[in-house]
Amino acid sequence: MDGLNKFIYEIGSDSAFSILARSNELIKQGKDVINLGIGQPDFPTAPNIVESAVKALRDGNHGYSSSNGILELREAVSDNFLNRNDIKIDPNNILITPGGKAVIFYTLLIFGQPGVEIITPDPGFIAYRSMIDYMGAKAIALPHRMENNFSFDANELLSLINDKTRLIILNSPANPTGGVVPHQELEKLAKGLQKFPNVFILSDEIYSRILFDGHKHSSLLTFPEVRDRVIVLDGWSKTYSMTGWRLGYGIFPKSIFKYAEKLAINCHSCISIPTQLAGIEALKGSQDSVNKMNQEFQERREFLVTELNKIKDVSCVTPGGAFYVFPKINKKNQKSKDISNFLLEKKFVATVPGSSFGENGEGFLRISYASKLENLKKFIKLLDEYMNE
Ligand code: PLP
Repeated sequence: MDGLNKFIYEIGSDSAFSILARSNELIKQGKDVINLGIGQPDFPTAPNIVESAVKALRDGNHGYSSSNGILELREAVSDNFLNRNDIKIDPNNILITPGGKAVIFYTLLIFGQPGVEIITPDPGFIAYRSMIDYMGAKAIALPHRMENNFSFDANELLSLINDKTRLIILNSPANPTGGVVPHQELEKLAKGLQKFPNVFILSDEIYSRILFDGHKHSSLLTFPEVRDRVIVLDGWSKTYSMTGWRLGYGIFPKSIFKYAEKLAINCHSCISIPTQLAGIEALKGSQDSVNKMNQEFQERREFLVTELNKIKDVSCVTPGGAFYVFPKINKKNQKSKDISNFLLEKKFVATVPGSSFGENGEGFLRISYASKLENLKKFIKLLDEYMNE
């Protein structure tokens, strides 16, 4: 259709959702589909969290609330951030959002416009690129390579900055690779960014509680050189298995908080109070379910990495966090999209083609191991069969 906002034609979409829709169609047709495509933990939200929301509804908490989030929740987020990162955040800089994704949306509405360059991970989470394109800004790919355990090189990043650069997007631990950026690389970056005081950074830390092998999360906010221009995205979706609750937050620098809040008022108004009270319970209640979930993720990851590396023409590095592996798969030089399609249509396994996360993702598949070990075992058998056909 012609005559719409010219950038709407540029907006991309998250293929994980279309793959999910196709998997559901196949399931309806009676196929036994193993879904390793979607990025959501396969555990129930902990009962204490659910109960707090149910109670809130019974208590009549069904009205609008403040647009930035109820103070008690913002204070709980601030305490939690202090515990994990040793930095005190003013609750007035915290915006509670309907999932972490809204922080990406609002940040790009603030920074994106024609003539501006935004550096974004490649491969990287699809929403970054879609929103950069929609705003008419230019996306500059920051390669995250397998040889570098899917981290980036700070010097390479700094070399991509020019007068047009307004924003850098970082994501560690990362979707789709599970890569973790080492502390020293962030340190190098923070130092280097002192030369570019107009460049802001959106640090997507939504997987920061899902880390293995002793990796410790370093929030970009802990680096004083850049503290006044870092936006942190985090939330409850992955850590507490609360994807469908739609609860996340952004920590915005004082200089732009008011704009993010105005966007929130004009868009989602506020978050439902029962959901926010559940968010408080998640942060302040027992963390047993988080630890148990991470333990299980770790076992699955070890199984997958070991077994994938035994398969012909497949190689996989051990990701430091999140719940994805990103193996390189060479099947007669076929495109990752064709491989992923074949696996879904013929073997009934849903995966996401690496190319949908950017040019540097070509040749890889994203496998989410938010699925039972028994399914992962079936998947390994099917992939081995396919690679030997
Ligand atoms: N950032 C990354 C890297 C993600 O993988 C996701 C979800 O898949 C999000 C943000 C959005 O999370 P939410 O479901 O809280 O909007």
